[in-house]
Amino acid sequence: MVENYDVVIVGAGTAGTYLGWLLSKKGISVVIIEKDKRDQVGKRLDVIHFETDRIKKAGIPPPQVGYPELVGIFEEDTVNAPDFKTKKKIRALQTIIRLSYFLQRMYKIVESDGGKFLFECKFLELIFENDKIVGLFAEKNSEKIEFRTRIVIDASGTSGVVRTCLPAEYGVETFKLGPNDVMYVLLQYIKWSKPEEPYPQHLNGFIYYLAWLGPCHIENGVIIGVGQPGSYENVAKVRDDLLKKVNFPPYEIVKSEKGFTPYRRPPYSLVADGFLCIGDASVITYPFSGHGVTATWMLCIIAADVIETTLKQEGYITREQGAKFAGLYMQLSGILNFTEKEWNYLVGSNIIYRSRKGEIPEPNKEYEADMSFGEILKIALGLLGGIIKRKLSLKNVKKLLKANGLAGKIRKHYENYPENPDNFDAWVEEAEELWKQKKLVIKQYPSVAVEYH
Ligand SMILES: Cc1cc2nc3c(=O)[nH]c(=O)nc-3n(C[C@H](O)[C@H](O)[C@H](O)COP(=O)(O)OP(=O)(O)OC[C@H]3O[C@@H](n4cnc5c(N)ncnc54)[C@H](O)[C@@H]3O)c2cc1C
Repeated sequence: MVENYDVVIVGAGTAGTYLGWLLSKKGISVVIIEKDKRDQVGKRLDVIHFETDRIKKAGIPPPQVGYPELVGIFEEDTVNAPDFKTKKKIRALQTIIRLSYFLQRMYKIVESDGGKFLFECKFLELIFENDKIVGLFAEKNSEKIEFRTRIVIDASGTSGVVRTCLPAEYGVETFKLGPNDVMYVLLQYIKWSKPEEPYPQHLNGFIYYLAWLGPCHIENGVIIGVGQPGSYENVAKVRDDLLKKVNFPPYEIVKSEKGFTPYRRPPYSLVADGFLCIGDASVITYPFSGHGVTATWMLCIIAADVIETTLKQEGYITREQGAKFAGLYMQLSGILNFTEKEWNYLVGSNIIYRSRKGEIPEPNKEYEADMSFGEILKIALGLLGGIIKRKLSLKNVKKLLKANGLAGKIRKHYENYPENPDNFDAWVEEAEELWKQKKLVIKQYPSVAVEYH
């Protein structure tokens, strides 16, 4: 059987579904193939956080109050220092939903705008003619289907099933995600055993442990989430360390979930002839939180416009850039060096969570360093003050400044992403040199040393 579409998308997660929707609305013929059953997609994760303003920017009809999809809409978060006494309220506009309900609603929206899904249909291999992608083979109900298309989009999640099977020289890196390229996350949905007695509220972040309490749909319940690179074992150990210190009131575990989210630089190019990768398949996640959904939606808006123009012009899609994320990822290696005591000082002082005109601070809303010179100076003076008061070590502040310097360089380099493919190899060479300077950080928790590559 042969089917013809302008675009074939592999994967009906949040990335493939959203891009499929944008393309269908433009009148482009698109099919989204998904290996899982329709009602099973998205079941691996229950509750998930979206940045509220990004839902609006993406043009997605917001989830409605009173429906099981919506857990809640929140405006604030609390950052806790590792002493569990020093706290800081921050502004964080988040809409918290249940993923499978959201996807089921989106599938209907996409279909009503002309998009087509084929569930239980698994990508097998690409078809090439004259060394260029012209389609793919997939399998449904043990039958092999041939899809002929102008563009194949890999939205298959962390496995990147299409990207990782491209020929080595096709133009997009084919690496697979290893244990040091991901944040392993363990989630426990818990219920406080004595809800009549005080218990910690959700939307509490324990920054030093990369842990948080998040809201869920369970009455008097909360999600305890912890993420760490390397292995689930690392996460479990760090979670034990946290729980020993934090002394929560008694609770019962209702259910547990686990998963991993990419934590490495994305491929230098997301695009090659007749090919694009998006979502986790393209390693696009916010380096500070591991959130990937809304970041990809923003990328999809650009991609859909480019694809539309390209299909009209008989050309190929252009390459994308991730300057902000690259810079932030580099910056993290500086921040991760600080010790527990230093974090107590950083959270308690106004150095990293600075508020403007007495407002609650809203850190990194757009995930970029849009600071004025005055603000940068304030941070620098704050760090200097910390060193003088012996609250921060000169060694770690130096590491932070060095990482920040490198972050600035890498960001600038990504902003100068070559428009002409002829300059691409030279650009990559320079990027490699910068990434080589990124330092490994080893953080010593009470029961485990975790490596951040
Ligand atoms: C524990 C955890 C918590 C998270 N919390 C958040 C959060 O709060 N907010 C946030 O924004 N992000 C969060 N993330 C990250 C977020 O889940 C991902 O970034 C996002 O789901 C990626 O979407 P995607 O569509 O790229 O991939 P996926 O959602 O993984 O979808 C890929 C789809 O491709 C399908 N597929 C794979 N192989 C094939 C094949 N051969 N043929 C056909 N189909 C195939 C899969 O079945 C899957 O349905 C979290 C991640 C984890 C692990």
